[in-house]
Amino acid sequence: MTRAAPPRRLAELGLSSERVLMKDKEPGSFEREVAELEERLLPTTLEKAVSWAQTKSMWPDTFGLACCAIEMMSIVSARYDIARFGMEAFRASPRQADLLIVSGRVSHKMAAPLRQIYDQMLEPKWVIAMGACASSGGMFNNYAVLQGVDRIVPVDIHVPGCPPRPEALMEGIVRLHEKVRAGVPPAYEFRRVAT
Ligand code: SF4
Repeated sequence: MTRAAPPRRLAELGLSSERVLMKDKEPGSFEREVAELEERLLPTTLEKAVSWAQTKSMWPDTFGLACCAIEMMSIVSARYDIARFGMEAFRASPRQADLLIVSGRVSHKMAAPLRQIYDQMLEPKWVIAMGACASSGGMFNNYAVLQGVDRIVPVDIHVPGCPPRPEALMEGIVRLHEKVRAGVPPAYEFRRVAT
C-alpha cells in the first residue's frame, strides 16, 4: 500500500497568500505590489488615487422628473461637454450608475420608485438635488409634492435655481468631485433619512 503524498505548500501551488496565515513571513507579493504602487504615486496614497479615479468615471443614472431634467440632459451636449469628466455615459440601469441627479419635483407617488432606484445603486454612490423643487419642494408647497428629496435619500450636493442652468449643475458636479477627492464620505455614511 502506497502512502499518500504530503500536502504541498500553497506557494508551490502558485498562491502568494501564506503571510496571512504566517505573520512572521516576508510580505506577500500582493502587499509588495501595493507598497510599490504607493511608492510610485509618491506623496499620495492608494485611497486618494481611487478617489481621483472615481471622479473621472462617475456615471449618472438616466433619471429625470420635470423641467429641470431638460437642463440636465443638455450637459452631455458639445456646448457643456460633460465627457471631459468621463461622465457622458448616463446609465439606464441603477446597478451601473453611481450618481443620482434628482432633476425636478418629486411627487409623493414617485418617492417610493426613486428610493428603490437609489437602493439598487451600488456603493459608493452620490446624490445631487438639482433645482428648488428637488431641494425643498420649490413653489409646490402642497400635499402632492415631497418637500425636499433629502427626506428619502441622503443628498451630497444641492444645486439652487429654477431651473438651474447647465453651468450651475456643472458647478455642483465639480464641487462633488472636490468633496470626493478631499476624502469626504458619501452622504449616506453620515446623514439619516426616512427608510
Ligand atoms: S425647480 Fe423649476 S425648473 Fe426645476 S422642476 Fe421645479 S419648477 Fe421645474
